Amino acid sequence: MPVHLVQHPIVQDALITLRDKATTASHFRRLTHRLSLVVAMEATRKLPMTLARVESPLEMTQGEVLDCDVVVVPVLRAGLGMVDAILELLPEARVGHIGLQRDETTALASRYYARLPANLANSTAIIVDPMLATGGSAIAAIDLVLAAGARDVRLLCVVAAPEGIAAVDAKHPTLPIYTPAIDRELNSQKFILPGLGDFGDRLYGTT
Ligand code: URA
Repeated sequence: MPVHLVQHPIVQDALITLRDKATTASHFRRLTHRLSLVVAMEATRKLPMTLARVESPLEMTQGEVLDCDVVVVPVLRAGLGMVDAILELLPEARVGHIGLQRDETTALASRYYARLPANLANSTAIIVDPMLATGGSAIAAIDLVLAAGARDVRLLCVVAAPEGIAAVDAKHPTLPIYTPAIDRELNSQKFILPGLGDFGDRLYGTT
């Protein structure tokens, strides 16, 4: 499976501060935004383009403009922290939402909300799910987006566990994953080690 490890210095600098338990929620949100911008730049390197001709103040010239419909799909609630960065790069992108609740004891994801834009067949769907732990929520989101008709689907994370990557690979072997880090392992509660804790709690200060 194509796993793109985004090792840009700005991403790595943001990531180590996200991991720091002393980082406040407001700083955590700012860093998530900054990191997501760079990860999204990597994930959108090969978006479809089309020829454009414009008249500069001196003469006609040509270049390329984006020619694609992008749909950003955050997995609630942690994924919300990454959405604005993608919309900053692609302001015309449409946004769908998937609400998945992780059972604290079984770590299984169950869906409580889903609302996707229509007509995804020719769209690039970017699922944002910051912590790829067991892969349960990512796979549920991917399945839903594929069932809605999307064919070009990418997954953006902040931290991935080997177990989560393996689970996505087993079900969707060609789906590209963009992540700044592949951490060591999951603990018995299915949290990523070393990880950064509960992403949603860190983002919204609900610890
Ligand atoms: N979700 C989180 O927020 N953190 C983890 O470590 C695993 C899943």
